[in-house]
Order: sequence, then C-alpha cells, then structure tokens
Amino acid sequence: MPLRLDTSVQYLRGVGPHRAETFARLGIHTVENLLYHIPHRYLDATTVTPIARADVGTEVTLVGRVVSTGVLPTRRRLRIFRAVIRDASGLIECAWPGQTFLDRSIKEGQLLLVSGPIKHYHGRQMVPREQVILAGPDDADDEDTDKGLVLPVYPATEGLSHRQIRRLIKNHLEEFVALVDDVVLTSVPKELNLPSLRDALLAVHRPATTSQAEQGRRRLAFDELFDMQLVVVRARHLAKYAVKGIQHEIKKQLTTQLKEALPFELTGDQRRAIREITADMTAPHRMHRLLMGDVGSGKTVVALFAMLLAMENDSQAVFMAPTELLAEQHAATLTRFLAPLGIVPELLIGRLSASEKAAIRDRIATGVSRIVVGTHALFQEKTRFHLLGFVVVDEQHRFGVEQRAALIEKGEAPDVLLLSATPIPRTLALTLYGDLDVSVIKEKPAGRQAVRTSIRSSKNRSAIYAFVSEQCAAGRQVYVVYPVIEESEKVDLKAATTMAERLREDLSPLQIGLVHGRMKAEEREATMRAFRDGEIPVLVATSVIEVGIDVPNATVMVIEHPERFGLAQLHQLRGRVGRGTAESYCILVADAGARDRLRNFAQTNDGFRIAELDLQERGMGQLAGARQSGGMAVSFTDFTKDEDLIIASRKAALEIIRLDPLLDQKKNSALRTRLQQRYERGMELFRVG
Ligand code: ADP
Ligand code: MG
Repeated sequence: MPLRLDTSVQYLRGVGPHRAETFARLGIHTVENLLYHIPHRYLDATTVTPIARADVGTEVTLVGRVVSTGVLPTRRRLRIFRAVIRDASGLIECAWPGQTFLDRSIKEGQLLLVSGPIKHYHGRQMVPREQVILAGPDDADDEDTDKGLVLPVYPATEGLSHRQIRRLIKNHLEEFVALVDDVVLTSVPKELNLPSLRDALLAVHRPATTSQAEQGRRRLAFDELFDMQLVVVRARHLAKYAVKGIQHEIKKQLTTQLKEALPFELTGDQRRAIREITADMTAPHRMHRLLMGDVGSGKTVVALFAMLLAMENDSQAVFMAPTELLAEQHAATLTRFLAPLGIVPELLIGRLSASEKAAIRDRIATGVSRIVVGTHALFQEKTRFHLLGFVVVDEQHRFGVEQRAALIEKGEAPDVLLLSATPIPRTLALTLYGDLDVSVIKEKPAGRQAVRTSIRSSKNRSAIYAFVSEQCAAGRQVYVVYPVIEESEKVDLKAATTMAERLREDLSPLQIGLVHGRMKAEEREATMRAFRDGEIPVLVATSVIEVGIDVPNATVMVIEHPERFGLAQLHQLRGRVGRGTAESYCILVADAGARDRLRNFAQTNDGFRIAELDLQERGMGQLAGARQSGGMAVSFTDFTKDEDLIIASRKAALEIIRLDPLLDQKKNSALRTRLQQRYERGMELFRVG
C-alpha cells in the first residue's frame, strides 16, 4: 500500500497497533500528524557547556554520561535524587530535590542532558530545571550530537521517548516530505524569505543550524496563520456584508446633549472609539466591533453614545450583561448619565416579579422602552423588540455564541458592539478577534490613581490584617482573594474557608463575607450585593469575583497565592480596586520563590503592557483564548516573535476573500478543501450571528 499523508502511523515499520496507541496520546494518528510533530527544542552542540566550565551562579546546559545515581535523605526529611554525570572535561553532581521518582528513569550509563542553574553545595551542583535522556546505556554514542549537529528534541510521552520519535521521523523523513503539497506557496509574500513547505519540514526535523530550523518553523507558522486568517476574514466579510445592515444617521441631538451633560471630558481614546463606532453605524454594512480597554477605562460611556445614536434613529438599543448584578450596575450608571436627557433605561432581570417583567416586555415590544439593560436569560425568553437596531454585549467572552446570536436575532441585522476588559496584544487580537473590527482604549480617564501594588511575605500576615482593619475602620472595603484551582479544588476550598474563619477571628467584630464557585448563584449574588451596598466590609472570594463589579469604596485587594494566577488575571483582580478617588492598594502575599515575576507586574498598571508580559510568560500555544476560537489552536506560531507573519497572513487572506468571499472559485478550491479538513467546524462562524 503506498504511503499517504492520512495513512495511520500503525502501518509504519516498527510501530504497529500497540505503539500506535501511545502515539495517539500525543495526538499523532496519521503520517501527517507525525510530520507536523515538530521538535520543541534543539540541542546545539555550541550551546552545551563543558562540565569543567560550568561556573557557580550561571545557567547552563550540560551533556554527560551518568556515572552514578542515588536517593539521599536530608536532615529536613526532603529526599533528593542525585546523579553524577561526566563528559570529557569533568564531573558534576546533579540534584533534584523531592523528585525521587526519577530513579526509575535516569540510569547509570545514559547520556543525559540537563539544564539549569549551577549552585554551590559541597562544591558545584547542578539543579536541573529540565533533563532529557539523549541515549541509553547500550546505544552507541549519539552520532548527531557527536558530529556537532543540531539535534532535535521532540515532545514525548510515557512509553514513547523522544529518541524513538526521532528515529522514526529520521528514517521516514524524505518519504513523508515527498507527500506534501504546497498549496499556500503562492500566497506567501516574497519579502518574508520563507522556505518552501518541503524545505521547511526538512529544516525543522533535520536542521543544519538552529536558525534554519527557526526559518522552517516560521513557514509552518505562516501556513497556520494564513489558514486561520482565511477563516476569520471570511467570517468578518460575511458578517458585515452578507445581509444589509442598518444605516444609522448622525443627528447630533441626544449625543450632543449627553456630551454637554457629562461631568467629565472624554479621553482622546474614547473619542476615537466613538468615531470608529459611528463610522460603522452610519455605513450600510453591519457593525461587528470589539471595544477593548482595561477595567475603568470608560467603555460604558462609549457604548452609551452609540446607544443614543441608535435611539435618535428610532431604533432600540440593548445592553447585555453576564450577571444580574452587573446588569443592575450598568442600569444604575446609564440612569445617572441619562437623567439630564430625561431618558430612563429599562432594566429587565430575573429577580423582578412576573407581572413587572410582563409590563417591561410589553414596553419593549411596543417600542416605548428604547434603552434596555438585562441578562441573556431574559433576552432569550419571550422578549420581543419593536425595532432592535443596536446590541452591546458586556464581558463578551462570558457568553456563548448561541447566547449572543439569540439576542442579535431579535433585531433585523442590528449593529453589534462587544466589550472586553481583557486587553491583549495586537498580534493576538488580529487572530483571536480577527473576525471583528477592533477599537482600543489605552488612555485612563484623567485623575485616575494608580493602584499601589506591593509584594509581602506570608510572615507579614498580621501586619497585612492590621492594615485591613485600619482601612475598614476608615470606612473602606477590602477584597481577599484565595485561588481555587480545579486540580485541587477540595483542598483549596477548605483553605479559603479556613482563611475566612481566621479573618473572622483576627478582624472581629468586622463582618466577613465569603463567595466561591461552589455556591448557588443566588447566594453568591446576594453576598456580592451586600458587599456592593457596603453592608459587608471584607469579602473573601475565590477567583469568581465579577470582573466588572464596581465598588468604588473598596480600596484594598489582598491576593493569596498570586503564583497560581497568570499576570493578566492578577491585573483583572487588581482592577476591582482603585475605582474611587481614595488611594488604593493591591497586596500580593507571596513567598520568596514566587516574587521575581511579580515585580514587573507591581511596577505597571498598564493592562496592555501586562498582557505582553503575560504572553511572554506563558509562551506559545498556552493561550487560554486560543483554544476557544472554534478549534483554531495554533501550534507553530510564537506570538512574541511572529508579528510580521500575522500581519502578512492577514493581508494575504484579505486579498483572497475580497475577490472570492465564499472561496468557491476554482483557483481557491485547494485552499477551501484544506480549511474544511483542518477545522472541525469547517468554516462556519462562531462569534456573531
Ligand atoms: P469600564 O467599563 O471600561 O470598566 P466604566 O465605563 O465603568 O469603565 O468607567 C469607569 C468609571 O470612570 C465610571 O465611573 C465612569 O463614569 C468614569 N469615566 C468614564 N470616562 C471618564 C472620563 N473620560 N473622565 C473621567 N471619568 C470617566
Ligand atoms: Mg464595564
């Protein structure tokens, strides 16, 4: 049987059905999967330090034969796995505290690669962050490393070592590569100087230099970005142009009144966002725009201008929030802003009595109510609109596609504005939100105070609590966040509860509220409401605090175990305070090991900057959002390095879609087939209706 890209790996020499199951654990089912299973790192002989030259205080990579191994107990009952390795220049001891299980895999005679810091402990000692077994005791010295070539290291799994993977790929590489068809090639801009697909695959698996491998990776990244851009750009095109949108007209009645009544000046970024939104709303196509800005950057007012523009055109506008609490908060804000204009927004939430809800629905259906705030649950039910022309979705990521679509379908192609309080770098926005147009607010409103962030050790706990009670005595409120993660939910919940108990004692007689993810939604909202209304001074919360909750009186955010949060998450949490005029504080309770990464965070309040740090920290492929985008995870792209590829792939995709939005012309059929095979959900779109 001739080999094809979709041939199962089990038919490869030396694999078979049993081993094929192990490959499946790595997501490798076919020859194509195997070919695209690229090394996650390369060992370049020039980057390996001779053992004799590994100096205390440096971070190095060493390669040596294991001379001896053993498990050592220490006085403090910590058991350490040790191995001594040797190369031509000398010997060194490696120590893995607490990892005694390694004695099952690391054996005398193996060729071992270790990288990590060299410390001083009865002489030099390597404390590896990473170790790779390069060759077994019986293997001949690895030809590749010995020849000084660049050696690929593959992601491996239990029962399938990276060496086995390497051997298999090496034996078949030419054969596999001959099968690929470079359908993207004509879309790759010449200026990028990327190799052909076949050369790229050869380069990632068998590079002569690490920079050659990197060029190969970039070509694979371009291809996946281009695929993704074709899907999102096509979706954007269809969402905008497939049905005729509402062409709102600028009337400058209500909007001008609002501008005059506002107690503050809009920031430059707010004005620009309003201009961009107005341009979309007054164009004949539909608007699908995302407004991205840090918490407190003033997105709500921007949305309100757009709502009034719709209202001036006799349309209705709705503002959808993810929880009742947030809906109430937005309704209160809008009521305040709109009072001078004599407009009263309608609030439709589940807590109201059946007859109240019926009356409100009636006013919405007849068009008496023009500005409506509520949660998705209510818009999904029997609610009918007279003429829904504009939809705002707050905290857009908290809604499913279907929920957003259900609301949008209540109008005739309304304009849609999604709000996001999670800033992300532009490179990422172009992919994750590639189907939308994006407006960004970076500027903070004038007079906004930066939250003062400090890093404290848990030994300072009594000082922290003293500060908390001081703030409470001054009438302020405090959040204490305790992370609960899925893997250790039970233990964490218990710890969070214990912490609340302890606070009750230490801060007595102050009342301490507790909210966590296991509580019923109503119970949780009731406690949050009490906190918002100032009835509870201290709120202990697992990571479930509403992102948008606005309690201007809260001035302190204490975060326990900040090491368990990503930097962007920490920033979201910090955004709960500093919303009023009083000086606000964020206290990270972290022990020594976890502090380094928090320093940069403590020094900036700029959400976009933090998003970049977060991206660097989490690295490629780890992006939470990337996985959610309709199965469009990326494997080869490095968002910290590939901005040029992202921009170029988008440009190439825009060009194709402009001429052939449905990709049904003959010359694009190969691309179309490729996308259909690649994405589980084909090319249909997920974000908006
Ligand atoms: P976001 O929704 O982006 O988190 P909000 O719209 O809730 O932010 O705005 C936060 C606070 O800042 C609100 O109290 C709002 O009235 C106020 N605000 C908005 N824009 C400005 C501005 N340009 N100058 C001063 N205060 C502003
Ligand atoms: Mg908001």
